[in-house]
Amino acid sequence: MESENLLEVRDLKKYFPIRKGLLGRTVGAVRAVDGVSFDVKRGETLGLVGESGCGKTTAGRVILRLIPATSGSVVFGGQDVLALPKGELRAMRRRMQIIFQDPYSSLNPRLTVGAMLQEALSIHKLASGQAARDRIAELLDLVGLAPDHARRYPHEFSGGQRQRIGVARAMAVKPELIICDEPVSALDVSIQAQILNLLEDLQKQLGLTYIFVAHDLSVVRHISDRMAVMYLGRIVEIAPSDAVYDMPLHPYTQALLSAVPVPDPARKRRRILLAGDIPSPANPPPGCTFHTRCPAVQDICRREAPSLREIHPGHWVSCHLVEQGATHAPGPSAVTLSAT
Ligand code: SF4
Repeated sequence: MESENLLEVRDLKKYFPIRKGLLGRTVGAVRAVDGVSFDVKRGETLGLVGESGCGKTTAGRVILRLIPATSGSVVFGGQDVLALPKGELRAMRRRMQIIFQDPYSSLNPRLTVGAMLQEALSIHKLASGQAARDRIAELLDLVGLAPDHARRYPHEFSGGQRQRIGVARAMAVKPELIICDEPVSALDVSIQAQILNLLEDLQKQLGLTYIFVAHDLSVVRHISDRMAVMYLGRIVEIAPSDAVYDMPLHPYTQALLSAVPVPDPARKRRRILLAGDIPSPANPPPGCTFHTRCPAVQDICRREAPSLREIHPGHWVSCHLVEQGATHAPGPSAVTLSAT
């Protein structure tokens, strides 16, 4: 029987070597992704969230093999992506696409939109001649652009329209999985909702699976079925989006969420300000890597790294104290969300 998981990521690591001296001797490593595991079901959207530098974008690129992994496995549709020979990688790439954050720099300024989409179709030998022209018109219609936009260059479009072109380019090859890498964070707030709605409509229409990488939790909740929260290259909490949003269990998730405005004026969140900066991924703290900033820290946190454990069905948390409720006990120094 075919697995309901389209993607299975296990203990994925990406270390960037730090080199010094004339001979480029390796003196250390930046642990950008440090043992990440998760599954994504067919037709699901998994939000991958965290502050800048947490490793979420790197994880997305390693999954697509845009950059090589240090270790771990990525199984897509039953095939190990990281072990695929180069000849088979192109076929796999057709099935896994990416939409980049910056619609300005991700489009080739020298190509018309039509030529750009034609290129995607040609590389994968999907259509040529009239069939390609028809497909390009269809793709532009799919993302809410007009057929005559095919003759224009990227600089002739607004930011939102350019991101629609980026979406069309990803859709051109009929992928199954799309990694959306902060696709709306460079856009005006008024345009963000349009692109998010477009991505949701396309998902329903075409049965797509998304990994949605973002630092803004309110954006991720809008589109994701589940959320995985990353800190210093690791997942600290993963659960259905509503559970993360309504009952965050990891102190880091609680702090991130405390900065998200709540639309209901009757409910207020107490803002949790984290002390200090994020430690360097080249020299992560021992034990729980969040202990240098965690208001609920205990001695054990400085010594032992917590494992990711299932606290409620489908709700996984990496924190020593979560079972004791210590991370959500009310009190002046507790890390908690208060509703008044
Ligand atoms: Fe905070 Fe300790 Fe939990 Fe880490 S293990 S999040 S330091 S309470």
